[in-house]
Amino acid sequence: MISKKVISLVENGSAIRAMFEEGSRMAEKYGKENVYDYSLGNPSVPAPVEVEESIVDIIKNSDPVEVHGYMNNAGYPEVRKAIADHLNMLYGTSFNTRNILMTVGAAGGLNVILKTLLNPGDEVLTFAPYFVEYRSYVSNYEGKLIEVQTDPETFLPDKESFKRAITPLTKAVIINTPNNPTGVIYSEDVIKEIADVLREKEKEYETSIYLIADEPYRELAYDGNEVPYLTKYYHNTVVGYSYSKSLSLPGERIGYLVMPDDMDDASMIINGAAVANRVLGFVNAPSLIQKVIARCLDCTTDVKRYDENRQLLYNALVSYGYTCVKPQGAFYLWVQAPDGNDIEFVETAKKYHLLLVAGTGFAGPGYVRLAYCVDKEMIKRSLPAFEALAKEYGLGK
Ligand code: PLP
Repeated sequence: MISKKVISLVENGSAIRAMFEEGSRMAEKYGKENVYDYSLGNPSVPAPVEVEESIVDIIKNSDPVEVHGYMNNAGYPEVRKAIADHLNMLYGTSFNTRNILMTVGAAGGLNVILKTLLNPGDEVLTFAPYFVEYRSYVSNYEGKLIEVQTDPETFLPDKESFKRAITPLTKAVIINTPNNPTGVIYSEDVIKEIADVLREKEKEYETSIYLIADEPYRELAYDGNEVPYLTKYYHNTVVGYSYSKSLSLPGERIGYLVMPDDMDDASMIINGAAVANRVLGFVNAPSLIQKVIARCLDCTTDVKRYDENRQLLYNALVSYGYTCVKPQGAFYLWVQAPDGNDIEFVETAKKYHLLLVAGTGFAGPGYVRLAYCVDKEMIKRSLPAFEALAKEYGLGK
């Protein structure tokens, strides 16, 4: 018999993955071009050409023993140094090699920092709606995930609810901006407010509360929106970054944690995180791709293509009568289920070959998430289906 925890994970499944698999089944039945799959956040823009060139060059011209070998659990020192220098140049920070730990994507990084910080029963706050996997990551270390409601209009943190949710057991707060699933970006004012609340509560309870910034979408910001760099606003900040979306490399599993020296217990956390990376079984982040990203630090994905998708889909859906938040970043559209029942709406949408994900899984019932990191032609083909679905719900009259 397998563990009770895993039984419950299997039973609760992932709604996103289930929808993705349903998409494959429907594509077989109706033809790929007649199924409109908005379920998965898999980047549709290919990785920059420099990635492929670097892979080939490294393979051809480096010592294979070094490229494919074990290394320090924190990653290759020269890669970590290159990332620290790059961040310092971009954000005016002063990180060193020791402040960077290479991770197996953002997911690996979050697991490493949570394992490093949490004792059983510790509370981790996050703002709803949120990336579903946070629940499992926190539960991996017997922590307790506490959902904090956001403003129902803007999906931004509500200061008073946030204050009320913090207790002496609060060990960390995970924030994700640009946000999956809402597409909202927290402005500098919002970040300052979060930092003020955390400082106040640290003082009141005489504890350290770590702000974990989950940032796989940092570069995906539209309309000139800035994404503040959080270590500048709050001393106990750990940044979790990933190249899954910014360089379209989700399958390569590469990212890093930034653990600044001015955090409380910085040395212990930095040393602890390297050990956590090892004992979680990652040992170290994949070697070849570490070297590749060190050569591609100035590359970014073609954000314009996601922006075109965003405009096309948002404008069309609003014109059919749907209510949605205009995303400022990431590549998701957060749409209200017309009668408030997201689960039923997702089922009805399937009749029109539209694959959406119910907001309930993100602790955001009453909404659905559409991942628009898809081919623009698919969006165009899907618009009559969205219009017909709107009519079925009596929208746009
Ligand atoms: N955090 C958020 C908010 C995400 O949306 C995702 C992936 O979609 C992750 C973390 C995991 O990213 P990675 O593929 O880098 O592990």
